Amino acid sequence: MPDNQTVLTLLAHPDDAEFLCGGTLCKLADAGWEIHIASMTPGDCGTMDRTRWEISAVRTNENRKSAQMLLGEYHCLDERDIYVCYDKPTLQKAVDLFRRVAPTLVFTHAPKDYMMDHEMTSLICRAASFGFGAPNTSDVPLKEGSGVPYLYYCDPLGGTDPYGNPVSPPTVIDISSDIDRKADLLACHESQREWLRAHHGMDEYIESMKRQNAMRGKQIGVEYAEAFTQHRGHPYPGDDVLKDMFGQ
Ligand SMILES: [Zn+2]
Repeated sequence: MPDNQTVLTLLAHPDDAEFLCGGTLCKLADAGWEIHIASMTPGDCGTMDRTRWEISAVRTNENRKSAQMLLGEYHCLDERDIYVCYDKPTLQKAVDLFRRVAPTLVFTHAPKDYMMDHEMTSLICRAASFGFGAPNTSDVPLKEGSGVPYLYYCDPLGGTDPYGNPVSPPTVIDISSDIDRKADLLACHESQREWLRAHHGMDEYIESMKRQNAMRGKQIGVEYAEAFTQHRGHPYPGDDVLKDMFGQ
């Protein structure tokens, strides 16, 4: 267990954190962890009828609200939907964010997921988590205790790889008692919920989250669960801190 209990989620879009690891974030907040939620983009393409500037303002406020529910802080790296790239300027922004936050536990996307913004974010987050503790990687002052954090990849959307094959992330966390709070976090993203509700004629935004978590819950005999794969390569901590804290 790290002394400095600070968790950072670096995911592509506003609402990805709530959808993919919101239940586990509730548990971490309850356990006293400091919460930071970051998105690569302000969600500028998540609309059918608003300008990119209008929807970006709406969605960053929605994400700020959900982070506040966990007494956490929201950060946006201000890249653009569909155009997230593993390149030097983007990586620098991510490293600078890591320097300011100095996380000891990090969540990002699965390396293989349904869209490229997610895959690029996964690479960027992996590189930033590896390198931010090296003094010369950023001009942002190095916080004491900065080092290689625990890194977990979230479940890919729908629990499948980009080819439609089911995947089985090995760290499965029971979030049955947190599912209502998780739904509340997700519901902060009203703009996304509304257009899906209008389009599907049902509350698909919340329901699709519950379906995926029910599917993972079934694997360990509980109602709802979130699944993760830990990055265990050198020099990352290899003990499964999530399972140690919240496992059965
Ligand atoms: Zn996304």
